[in-house]
Amino acid sequence: MKHTNDMNKNCPWCDSEKTQMHLWVKDLFLTQEPFEIYECLKCGLLFTEPRPDVNSIGKYYQSEEYYSHQENKNGFIPKIYESVKRVNLRHKRKLATKGLKVGTMLEIGCGVGDFLHEMEQKGWNCTGIEPSKEAKAIAKNRVKANILNPDELASLEDESFDLITMWHVLEHVDNLKEEVTHLQRLLKKGGRLVLALPNYKSADAEFYREYWAAYDVPRHLNHFCRESINNIFKNTKLKLKKTDKLVWDAYYISYMSEKYKNHTLPLLKGALRGLISNCKAQKSGEWSSLVYVLEC
Ligand SMILES: [Zn+2]
Repeated sequence: MKHTNDMNKNCPWCDSEKTQMHLWVKDLFLTQEPFEIYECLKCGLLFTEPRPDVNSIGKYYQSEEYYSHQENKNGFIPKIYESVKRVNLRHKRKLATKGLKVGTMLEIGCGVGDFLHEMEQKGWNCTGIEPSKEAKAIAKNRVKANILNPDELASLEDESFDLITMWHVLEHVDNLKEEVTHLQRLLKKGGRLVLALPNYKSADAEFYREYWAAYDVPRHLNHFCRESINNIFKNTKLKLKKTDKLVWDAYYISYMSEKYKNHTLPLLKGALRGLISNCKAQKSGEWSSLVYVLEC
């Protein structure tokens, strides 16, 4: 039996002991194993417990379906996914580079290299970081960029990049403190960090609760909202310049959540729920996924 305010569940960001049980969830994508999500009452971060260590996390990624590695699948959903992806890539590039001159960029969690490819076509000098061997092998055939392992982040020189992007990556990072230290170190003066993250305060998150596909435990170790991002970066040299949204995510996440609930007509219901979430977000600003643009 688990209790709230378990003293062992310290916040992985601020170390506060003031944490409480937030939600009981399962790995609905792969193993069906149960996990808990705790809330830090000090900084607003939600975090997955238990957190699989580096030796055991691999098994939770062992699926050909894991979406960031999806390649050339047939069928209706993958086709929609592909065309939305193309529009999305252009949107992400514009969002990330607005006001920046072409320069050097690092993409942490580059997957099969979709975004690197988009950026290289516009003349950016790119480096990628990717833990999956399979994804890395595909990326290496598609892009000029050097693709490194996550532990090679430490070998990159200080102030090497004009831009660092992390599209849905920081939620997977176990050591947040170390990561944030590297991000500050690697950016040039005036450089930009772009983070896209699921927002647990979105209407689709509140509607689906333990079925919300973007909790995606235990692959997602951290779960963010505006407040937790503000708290994480407030004492760093990175200042939040603006937030933006990824409108498609509300539909995709709602569709996946409907599938997890074993509801009939997941595409239709997911589309409707995604639309409702986006309409509510027009007023509240709580989009299903938020993009944070920080500069130093
Ligand atoms: Zn905290």
